Amino acid sequence: MSSDEIARLALGVNRMLARLEVSFGSLHRFTADASHELKTPLMVLRAGVERALVHPATPNEVLQSLDETLAQINQMSEMVENLLTLARADEGRAPLAVEVADLRDILGDVAETAGMLGETGGITVRVEMPEAPIRLAVDRHRIREMLLNLVTNAIKYTGKGGTVGLRLWQDEGDVVFTVADSGIGIAAGDLPHIFERFWRADPARSRTGDRPGTGLGLAITKWIAEAHGGSITVQSRPGRGTAFTVRLPQAGSRPAAGPSEEPQMNGEERRKDERRRA
Ligand code: ADP
Repeated sequence: MSSDEIARLALGVNRMLARLEVSFGSLHRFTADASHELKTPLMVLRAGVERALVHPATPNEVLQSLDETLAQINQMSEMVENLLTLARADEGRAPLAVEVADLRDILGDVAETAGMLGETGGITVRVEMPEAPIRLAVDRHRIREMLLNLVTNAIKYTGKGGTVGLRLWQDEGDVVFTVADSGIGIAAGDLPHIFERFWRADPARSRTGDRPGTGLGLAITKWIAEAHGGSITVQSRPGRGTAFTVRLPQAGSRPAAGPSEEPQMNGEERRKDERRRA
């Protein structure tokens, strides 16, 4: 092949990549706009159903289907909210509100919710954290959301009589969170997929059945860990349990998703790196 031909080929590939970039950009834009537009009608729907539920003239036989409708609306709102977050993150428009926080406070808060959820499900929740404060510059709402996602999953996928353990500690310059459960576990073949958007183990599992969910929680959780310059890993044995570990760098840490940066590039690089390591 002559150098002319190679140059022409390279030009063609570059043009194609540029076109692809534009179309990915518009896809993110479309997803962000669509989810944003869906928020208001969903709010109106929810308010209408809630009004009907408490209205004295609503016949009893209608109440159950209204309840089911409300559950669906709530699930859809959660999905739309999560989609919007991910689409904004892809566009680099999901800035973190970073401030120094004692991570023990955030974990304590999450542990309280976990305790209540566990009590309903007959699951023991244990918490372990150091006596001294662990201060780190984080977006406390996002870190809370990340831990809540992991904890609600741990409880959702653990049967009665099981245990869920939350732990916070420091290791080699990292702050480490572990959420471990004694639940159903994840098949080895499923592990590479769990952080993918909309992925849920066992396609037969309905989105609203015993274990409702959208398959977006772990995708968001991973984004939050990475946006803080950290990482998330998972270890699991089917029938024995699952442990998620989030590591956030402490010294000289710099959240990666600031508005002036290019999280899309960073995210892509990280994804490639992870695929290489997987
Ligand atoms: P979902 O809304 O389905 O819980 P997630 O993104 O949070 O979505 O999780 C994706 C899938 O990973 C779940 O559907 C489930 O199959 C699996 N999973 C996540 N956490 C656990 C866990 N602690 N134990 C077992 N399976 C889990």
